[in-house]
Amino acid sequence: MSHVLKLFFCLALLAWGQSHALDKILFNGQIHSQDGQKSVFSALAIEGSRIVATGTDEQVLSQRKVATEIIDLKGRMVLPGFIDSHSHIGMAPDYMAACQLQNSESKQEIFRRMLACHQQQLGSGMLWGFGNGDHNITITRQELDRLFPSRPVALIGMHHMVNFVNSHSINIIRQENSGTTDADLGIELNEQEQPTGTLHGDMAVLSLNLYKKVEDAKLFSEKIKQEITRYNRAGYTGFFDAGNFTYDFHERLSAFKVLDDSGLLTARSSLSFIVDPSLPIWPQIFYYQFIRKDFEGKYVELDTLKVFADTTYERMLEPHVNGQRNGQAMATKEDIASIMDAAKWFDFRVYFHSTGDAGVRYFFDGLESSQLKNHPGKPRHTVTHLSSVHEQDLRRFQQHDVVADIQPAWAYHGSMAGAHIENEREIFGKKRAQKRYAFSDLKLANATLSASTDFPFGILNPFVSIQTGITRQAQYKKNARPYHKEQALDLDTLISAFTINGAFQLGQEKEIGSLEVGKLADLIVIDQNLYDIAVQDIGKTQVLMTFFDGQLVHSETP
Ligand SMILES: [Zn+2]
Repeated sequence: MSHVLKLFFCLALLAWGQSHALDKILFNGQIHSQDGQKSVFSALAIEGSRIVATGTDEQVLSQRKVATEIIDLKGRMVLPGFIDSHSHIGMAPDYMAACQLQNSESKQEIFRRMLACHQQQLGSGMLWGFGNGDHNITITRQELDRLFPSRPVALIGMHHMVNFVNSHSINIIRQENSGTTDADLGIELNEQEQPTGTLHGDMAVLSLNLYKKVEDAKLFSEKIKQEITRYNRAGYTGFFDAGNFTYDFHERLSAFKVLDDSGLLTARSSLSFIVDPSLPIWPQIFYYQFIRKDFEGKYVELDTLKVFADTTYERMLEPHVNGQRNGQAMATKEDIASIMDAAKWFDFRVYFHSTGDAGVRYFFDGLESSQLKNHPGKPRHTVTHLSSVHEQDLRRFQQHDVVADIQPAWAYHGSMAGAHIENEREIFGKKRAQKRYAFSDLKLANATLSASTDFPFGILNPFVSIQTGITRQAQYKKNARPYHKEQALDLDTLISAFTINGAFQLGQEKEIGSLEVGKLADLIVIDQNLYDIAVQDIGKTQVLMTFFDGQLVHSETP
């Protein structure tokens, strides 16, 4: 080494030493790194936003400086910050403003909450309930009419699959959609051709104007901040927002940037634009490319296009065996090929919604026939939901390096996601019914699995998701019959799905998703070691601390 170089090297070291005082040391913990070797450490040091040391307490504590903050983990488990690979935070404030009906175990409980909300939220507009649906509770139009004779009421199920309304709301839906049949709107009729009050799917719900138009991104950003705080408390430090199907998506997406610019964004936010295959594809994607930079910032990325293959109502390759109508295909193979080409050209990844097996097939066929498939550079596309995947398509995830994103919390008997779970045999036939929510099959086919909640349409708690993914039983029901138990996943797989594989989906696996020297310090401290407790207790896990980018953003004393 020349003298000049040596001098430069010493000066650089000196400068580094001065500007980077060791900020924090976490010690006396069980730090599960989720690195390739699944290493477990007891201590970890953070400088600025990065992890600079891992190892035993002695090794790491020996590096402490005068100003280093020392945090005793008291033997607790540490994991990388969780990543929710499919959420709708941009729309969550509308749902969270409704009367919250999650975990209401009886009709009486739902009515009690709705009446309380009715009294609190005075006024004559729509009374929204949100999050009912589990426990197989059906509410009739007459019951709602009796309780709310003069106000339109809508109870929106957790997954938009099954919803209940009173007569006022039925009238509004029919007026808003004159010319559309009740069947197409999802309005269920009884034998006397009268509405029962049940709405299937989200067609009708959307015409009730649940979404309050966002005029001002700055004001709306305060609501988004509340949702981000909710995420940090639940153990997340990153998420993918799978699209805002609202006309004011511009304002909703801007709210993240407003938070980012003011230093208030405490989660890595990966956002998306929705591409509508029924409209010309290249102009849409060209426009998105043109405006994407308006939304990006330090913690905000907007590099994904969301595409719907079907709706919440599955489109299957083969018709239903009971003659019930098949779900609608929203995109053809040709549409998808064209989206893939444009996505590649403008450097977007594609995130594809497919509940039925048809969408998965069209997606891979479209990807393979895409003109630019040999274009250099790896695509990192994702297909989400995957309630049904044809066995011939299982291996294609690995072949094309496409991520399979699943919602483990939906797969149990009595789940609201399963208006189709309870009668899947009569709808799909025995063979297809057995392969519903076949997460283990995907894993055996070497698909990279990411995990998500679809919040607010699914429960946010990742530990409930993990527990359900292992047990395939409702968290609240002891000794329930497991749902296709052979498709259960193990704890390691589910933790990876919520951490390193989520990071891979976002294209950020070199920076986040595992706790390694040089990576960003996104991590959580939880109150129990998931490997030491009964599976039935995983869902009760509390997040005691959440660090995002090296900073403590949530803490709770046990
Ligand atoms: Zn979604």
